[in-house]
Amino acid sequence: MPKCYLCGAELTAENESEEHIIINAIGGRYKSKKLLCKKCNNGSGSDYDAVLAKQYHFFTNMLELSLERGKPPALKMESESGESYTIKNGTTPELSHPIVKTEKIDEHSSHISIIARSKEELEQKLKDFQKKVEIRRLRQKYMQYARSLRMNIYQKSNFYGIK
Ligand SMILES: [Zn+2]
Repeated sequence: MPKCYLCGAELTAENESEEHIIINAIGGRYKSKKLLCKKCNNGSGSDYDAVLAKQYHFFTNMLELSLERGKPPALKMESESGESYTIKNGTTPELSHPIVKTEKIDEHSSHISIIARSKEELEQKLKDFQKKVEIRRLRQKYMQYARSLRMNIYQKSNFYGIK
């Protein structure tokens, strides 16, 4: 009589469960009912599987293995300079998100560099910047207006001797 390799319980028709011989997350296809009991297959067994799947994630992704749930999930990696990349099934790394760097040159100007993944993304980033600049200009205008209003109120209150 086969026994559960985790808890040692004898496997019967009541407690048997189907388990991949080599976990599916790393490409295993064949299953057996003579490996784990139902309880262990639903509990700690899946924890071991998750650890193993995580350790082999890079290889399953690079080898483009087809799993029962489809393709392995994309890999997330970081370059030495801190940029985040996504690698989808054996493809070349792609930036996870556009990189926007702003370097202040002086009080009135900045150097802006944008690394985008597509022309459309670059255009969107430029539009976003344009909006930000317009908002900043409006804010400056408002601040000037508010300042002149304050001055005006101050001068008037002085004129009427109000404190
Ligand atoms: Zn068991």
